[in-house]
Amino acid sequence: MNKTILVTNDDGIHAAGILELKRSLCGLGDVVVVAPDRARSACGHGITLYEPLRVHKVRLADGDYGYSTTGLPTDCVHIGVVELCGGKRPDLIVSGINLGANLGWELTYSGTVAGAMEGAAFGIPSFAISVTTHEDGDVFGLAGRFAKHLAVEILDRDLPDGIFLNVNVPPGDSDYITEVCLTRLGIRRYPGRVEVRKDPMGRKYYWLGGDLPLDGLEEGTDLLAISEHKISVTPVHLDLTAYGTLEAVAKWPLQEMLSRSATVLS
Ligand code: MN
Repeated sequence: MNKTILVTNDDGIHAAGILELKRSLCGLGDVVVVAPDRARSACGHGITLYEPLRVHKVRLADGDYGYSTTGLPTDCVHIGVVELCGGKRPDLIVSGINLGANLGWELTYSGTVAGAMEGAAFGIPSFAISVTTHEDGDVFGLAGRFAKHLAVEILDRDLPDGIFLNVNVPPGDSDYITEVCLTRLGIRRYPGRVEVRKDPMGRKYYWLGGDLPLDGLEEGTDLLAISEHKISVTPVHLDLTAYGTLEAVAKWPLQEMLSRSATVLS
């Protein structure tokens, strides 16, 4: 039976990366594009609950049609799975190709990664794919071809429940990018720069970001692989429980804390 592949992103339906992804995957089955109607990067795993979502059928640059939504990537996957795949459950969900890396501790900021997270939450095999550059242009070729081969494997092998893959591809062609690493998430911290400015009325406003991340380039991490111009593939679990810390916190007097909380002292 023909496979159904749902494609989304957070750079918006008219971004070059999602078109390249659609083109790469179209030989594997029916590709349904459902993506935000505008750039929504860094929206994380947000979902729209307090306003209506509109869906429009739009013509893509290659002449085919896709669906744009007024929502976020998570909304797109939700609506895509439930409403827009012609009554079929998608066999695979792919989010990207994002312009810009999604690595290490910054994963939960990412709308691209959230698209794959939502796919995994639905129990559908999913992966997110990003190129580690912000320079638009001819940067998606290798990532697109790798996405196709990864899609073939995932459709064949499946993924365990609650697990998706996060893929980052350095810029450059296949003469330059010659290795792929199976990795864990590295430590990526932002120093936390905030620009303080004034609006025309003299009131202060703030603008986050603009700082470069501080990366811990430990062995086996996605950050190290990318710094060495290798493709990084990380399996990610929706279960964020810190299992290694359960034992330590078990020694805390949690029950006693509740008993004390039950007593209202005047
Ligand atoms: Mn993005």
